[in-house]
Amino acid sequence: MNSTNSGLGLGPIDVHVHLSLNGQGSLSGWSRRRWVMRPFLAAAAHDIGLRGGFAGRDFDERYLNRLVGWLEDSSLSAAVLLAYDWVRDSYGFPRKDLSDLYVSNEAVIAIARRHPKFLPGVSIHPGRPDAFDELERCAAQGAALLKLLPCVQNVDCNESRYKPFWERLAKLGLPLLAHTGGEFCVRSIRNDLKTPACLRLPLECGVTVIAAHCGTRALPWDGDHFQTFLEMRSRYPNFYGDLSPLSHITHLVSLERLREDPARLLHGTDYPVVSAVFPSFLKGWISREELHRLNAIGNPLEKKIQLTRAQGFPEQVFTDLWRLLPETVVRSFQQRGSRIPGPPDLLAF
Ligand SMILES: [Zn+2]
Repeated sequence: MNSTNSGLGLGPIDVHVHLSLNGQGSLSGWSRRRWVMRPFLAAAAHDIGLRGGFAGRDFDERYLNRLVGWLEDSSLSAAVLLAYDWVRDSYGFPRKDLSDLYVSNEAVIAIARRHPKFLPGVSIHPGRPDAFDELERCAAQGAALLKLLPCVQNVDCNESRYKPFWERLAKLGLPLLAHTGGEFCVRSIRNDLKTPACLRLPLECGVTVIAAHCGTRALPWDGDHFQTFLEMRSRYPNFYGDLSPLSHITHLVSLERLREDPARLLHGTDYPVVSAVFPSFLKGWISREELHRLNAIGNPLEKKIQLTRAQGFPEQVFTDLWRLLPETVVRSFQQRGSRIPGPPDLLAF
């Protein structure tokens, strides 16, 4: 697909941007601030320039307005804004006690309606009694993809009872973006579902599957599922990986291999997760001047684009996602741009 002169062009797109809601605003969402995460949330708040941190009645508004500001001030054409379903039991009922985060599909759909550069990434546990209805409803409202975290949300994608759900997803042309590998920010309740091997059934049903983080570790002692990612990428032509937030010391060995063979990789940040520049300098991939130049970029969305470029990844990692999204979504994205007269105002709640 080519970009058009009118409307929004199909330039760089970020496949992995998180919305965060604390349940005190008007959009439906919730988060648990575990004490163990507080220092990391403080670091993330500093990095993304979120004054006031991850708490308070006005958090939802501050978080979103900060994100809109970075997006408008970046070279991105668009970003997929992700919903986050509850952890659910095997019957699909919510387990709030096991959940750390919830972002409703309504929230990402409503924001994408008001801001032309966001595309909604919805989240539906396939075991939900209303899974099919919710999928149809979200697809009709312009969902760009489905996001799941199998190890967090308790989704064993290979269970045969989910086959009709994957077949419907394939028919709708919606890709599945699935977390793989280590998870640091929220609790995992199924460590056996961190491997990309748990995504075989949707792949065999014809779904385009994007393995977030390419199965890499988050922490040095995490199990490493990167080899499985590589094996599956060579076996399934509909299998992709996202580069979010691959930049840290724990990612270097995998990144080296991906640089040598950058087939079917997609750009992503995992915003608000911080990207690190220094490890790429340590590895000799970027010069000291590049290190200083990249570290001087205050916009975390732009910094990751420029870091990925400096690491030597080809330009198509920034735009290949457009080929994988439903055509109707891409077309309406381009048309939306031509209807909006100028840069949108910050979102009011
Ligand atoms: Zn993420």
